[in-house]
Amino acid sequence: MSASPLPKIGFVSLGCPKNTFDSERILTQLRAEGYLIVPTYQDADLVVVNTCGFIDAAVDESLEAIGEALRENGKVIVTGCLGARESVVKDAHPNVLAVTGPHATEAVMAQVHAQLPKPHDPYQDLIPPGGLKLTPRHYAYLKISEGCNHRCTFCIIPSLRGDLVSRPIGDVLSEAEALAGAGVKELLVISQDTSAYGVDLKYRLGFHKGRPVKTRMLELVQELAKLGIWVRLHYVYPYPSVDEVIPLMAQGLVLPYLDVPFQHASPAILKAMKRPAHAENTLRRIEKWREICPDLVLRSTFIVGFPGETEAEFDELLDFLEAAQLDRVGAFAYSPVDGAAANALPDPVGEDIQQDRLARFMDVQADISAARLKARLGSEMTVLVDEVGGGRALARSYADAPEIDGVVHIAQGRGLKPGDFVKVKITRSDDYDLWGKPL
Ligand code: SF4
Repeated sequence: MSASPLPKIGFVSLGCPKNTFDSERILTQLRAEGYLIVPTYQDADLVVVNTCGFIDAAVDESLEAIGEALRENGKVIVTGCLGARESVVKDAHPNVLAVTGPHATEAVMAQVHAQLPKPHDPYQDLIPPGGLKLTPRHYAYLKISEGCNHRCTFCIIPSLRGDLVSRPIGDVLSEAEALAGAGVKELLVISQDTSAYGVDLKYRLGFHKGRPVKTRMLELVQELAKLGIWVRLHYVYPYPSVDEVIPLMAQGLVLPYLDVPFQHASPAILKAMKRPAHAENTLRRIEKWREICPDLVLRSTFIVGFPGETEAEFDELLDFLEAAQLDRVGAFAYSPVDGAAANALPDPVGEDIQQDRLARFMDVQADISAARLKARLGSEMTVLVDEVGGGRALARSYADAPEIDGVVHIAQGRGLKPGDFVKVKITRSDDYDLWGKPL
């Protein structure tokens, strides 16, 4: 253990962007109170592990991470989604100091205080104005709500995180402004259902800089657009209300990019999944969006081999893919999640059939994605540089969200820095990525 008077905390952050956001809040609070964050187990006085509990593999990874922290350090506080299932953590690791659930900054801080009293003089000036970020400095996640009012049968997030609780719009906008002021060039708006922002508050009026602003997606996006940086919307459902945001994209005020997790296209399967907006005419809606904003890029995720999925229903999904011509797609074979309602559905699809369908699905989409990228050859695009090294740079255009989409490779990247916007001419494409030359 360290001889330094400043208490030292090790931090392990697992799981999705929403968890990353929670980690950033805890880290910011720790630094605000004068704790030091250290990168090794050996240097730490105690370790906080922020866990994920979404699927069984994530539970295993989280339990392993807790085990490693216990072995290497011995003093461990567990938080995050798996923390909501305290008995799972305590059964595997009875020696952890404390277990808290997700988005529980205050509870984690209380446990840290109990183990390691906070230093007397917090060095507030050590904290950058946008708080501590786990993402590179030039992009940041902006979480607008917690929890979810839907009850998709394959998902246990509502039982882990509860019903939708929207953050006050004034808080969200102040945070966004602080991030932009701290040099962030791209904000990634996240939640479980961004289109539902404010529903729980009946879209009530909040205040930003003394001005009234409605707690609603449209007003949120209008305000974020004023920051003059990239704003990217994730987890939006194809509700009619989303139509109002598309003209802002057409005007270049926010990125013409929507992450819409469709998950399937067969009405019967969508109903069995209890998906939000399952009764909407999605193809018609996509067509309408593209009429208003031809540059719109759509990303989505799908589940194949959901219980009861017949060959005919899977074909409906492939037909949808062909018709919808989505730009970016991720897909998974259905796997049961402990505690999910879908586990009780009849007619599970065998693993061989699932894998065969997944491969066929990805084949169809790879051709679509490749053709859509090929259509960009010769065009000029503004890209945001993420990484540089060896004279090359990795960047992203408006069509690429970090970590989940493709990239734009720049061979002549000398002189570029992460966070730079640069205009490139697209010279090459493959199934997922582009190559560009600075202009
Ligand atoms: S919309 Fe469905 S999948 Fe997404 S968090 Fe809510 S219940 Fe889960």
